Amino acid sequence: MLRGRARALWADEIRGPEIQQLILDMRDTMRAAPGVGLAAPQVGRALQLAVIEDRAEYHGKLSPEQVAARGRAPVEFYALANPEIVWRSEDNATFFEGCLSVNGFCALVPRVMQVRVKYLDAAGAPQTLEASGWHARILQHEVDHLQGTLYIDRMLSRTFTTVENLGRHWKELVAGDVIRRLR
Ligand code: ZN
Repeated sequence: MLRGRARALWADEIRGPEIQQLILDMRDTMRAAPGVGLAAPQVGRALQLAVIEDRAEYHGKLSPEQVAARGRAPVEFYALANPEIVWRSEDNATFFEGCLSVNGFCALVPRVMQVRVKYLDAAGAPQTLEASGWHARILQHEVDHLQGTLYIDRMLSRTFTTVENLGRHWKELVAGDVIRRLR
């Protein structure tokens, strides 16, 4: 399921009770983890559907400098179907990233800093969104899920570590320092 390509949803289908319920279930699963994004293939459904929410309370473990470096700002809950990245900026940022489906691990993953995404919202209406910083990273991660791609396919593999080890040894290092150290 995680490695398959999910199928697109029709607007009428999104408005139907089954998908509306799935969106609520995915929201609850994401919040319980807690996580900032969840894609339908992660809950066993091969559908082009994802939910995203980044609450301010999740940023509490980061210093103000880390929040700023990541371009991390609160994102209200929303669902997106059939998302397509139609534009990417050329600049990259590299930070540690994890996934609820690769639980307990993380690695440095380069991602572009800005994206424009077209999708259908929870009402089946077409939307275009421009996002930057951490929100752009979440979008790239979730859109990847719908194509069967995981962050471990894009990570700098020598930085793959347990979350526990990251907390113990690498907490104060910024990404650039870690890359230099591993070279
Ligand atoms: Zn994931």
